[in-house]
Amino acid sequence: MEFLQPETWPEALQMKAAHPQAVPIQGGTDVMVELNFDRYRPEYLLDLTRVSELAQWAPDNGHIRLGAGVSYTRVITELGDRLPGLAMASRTVGSPQIRNRGTVGGNLGAASPAGDSHPALLAAYAHVEVESVRGARQIPAEEFYTGVKRNALGPDELIKAVLIAPPAGPQQFCKIGTRNAMVIAVAAFGLALHPDREAVGTGIGSAAPTPRRALAAEQFLAQSLTDDGLWESRGALPDATGRHFADLVADAASPIDDVRGTARYRVHSLSVMARRALIWAWNDFRRV
Ligand SMILES: Cc1cc2nc3c(=O)[nH]c(=O)nc-3n(C[C@H](O)[C@H](O)[C@H](O)COP(=O)(O)OP(=O)(O)OC[C@H]3O[C@@H](n4cnc5c(N)ncnc54)[C@H](O)[C@@H]3O)c2cc1C
Repeated sequence: MEFLQPETWPEALQMKAAHPQAVPIQGGTDVMVELNFDRYRPEYLLDLTRVSELAQWAPDNGHIRLGAGVSYTRVITELGDRLPGLAMASRTVGSPQIRNRGTVGGNLGAASPAGDSHPALLAAYAHVEVESVRGARQIPAEEFYTGVKRNALGPDELIKAVLIAPPAGPQQFCKIGTRNAMVIAVAAFGLALHPDREAVGTGIGSAAPTPRRALAAEQFLAQSLTDDGLWESRGALPDATGRHFADLVADAASPIDDVRGTARYRVHSLSVMARRALIWAWNDFRRV
């Protein structure tokens, strides 16, 4: 196995173009598991840890530009106030060791339907910035996930960063697993209220072949809040609105039975998480 170690981003792109079969490695918390279990043996590993810009974040044109190599620990400690939904999701990932090594870029690269960053990125309307020697492009998160553990990257492309607007309203993330820590989600749900545009963002995790938004639920809730003047008044949320929103979120899932849980349980847990997340987010919104 060849170990490629670019020092700069242009060098990394050149190496990926020359060896499209090269497997990028950032924190290694997914890649090393696969190698250790001998699930595959790539001809080339492309180590991205020396590319310093990947490990940086910065405000950029009204967004936070989160380098693909920023660890979960840093999202939690440095960006908890600016990216609250993603920070909540990051707190639920693995253990301290995994959060120190694991990155949002790696979560996107792996594109597991159970990856915890995805619901938060979907709800926040994040974009994934990818690049190759051919040029750069931004992919809306909902178009990035193309199948079970598949994403929209071309063979010569690398993930450079994620662009996320700072929250205009409250954000929530809920995850259900078979225990409280070090657990892959049985189901997960992300919610973001966007009062600046009277819109709602959602993200469903681990309950469909890909992470996905619950579009009908988003539209129903945003419209109900507008029709009832609640974006303005910040009045109490009608119980029926919360219940119907939860039902629509559950309807958007298409889960399977597997070792972690049944499809039925996943659908039920999603509706519970959606209602709770909405109540918590709405209470936060009313307090401001
Ligand atoms: C014990 C344990 C517990 C875990 N718990 C959780 C959990 O609770 N929630 C969760 O979501 N995940 C969990 N994971 C999975 C893993 O930690 C995450 O998916 C993490 O985000 C991977 O990040 P990484 O930097 O380590 O990725 P890596 O392992 O380095 O890479 C992951 C994938 O992304 C690709 N990749 C990496 N960087 C790039 C790039 N810049 N451009 C293109 N492709 C790239 C790699 O080729 C690979 O396919 C766990 C893993 C372990 C071992």
